[in-house]
Amino acid sequence: MAKPAMVKRKIVKINEDLCDGCGACVTPCAEGAIQLVDGKAKVVREELCDGAGFCMGVCPTGALTIEEREAPAFDPKAAKEVQAARGKPILKETCFRCGATEEDAVLFPCRHQGESRWVCVHCLPPLIHG
Ligand code: SF4
Repeated sequence: MAKPAMVKRKIVKINEDLCDGCGACVTPCAEGAIQLVDGKAKVVREELCDGAGFCMGVCPTGALTIEEREAPAFDPKAAKEVQAARGKPILKETCFRCGATEEDAVLFPCRHQGESRWVCVHCLPPLIHG
């Protein structure tokens, strides 16, 4: 397997001091870049992290940020292969307002009253408009 080229780009950064190993960021990472290793989240294959930051919204401790640095280029082909091998991971989290699962509605990670939560597409507008 050829080594991915190094490029300057955005990639997830994990603060291990803040990470409590809850694992909430693993499933939302569709590309499978994040895994728990010895009780801490790690970007196990940097070429699988697209830097989109979808994981950030679900971290309850603020351990995840995005940084810009030299890293292996994102490899969409490898990410697709990992996704195919994983099958369809279904989030165990549900909408904090109505309990909808991701099979019921589109879910978004959000921050609400100091907590990381998920909200469904139906319950999001009342949160925005009051
Ligand atoms: S969601 Fe945050 S605290 Fe939980 S495992 Fe991931 S980085 Fe660590």
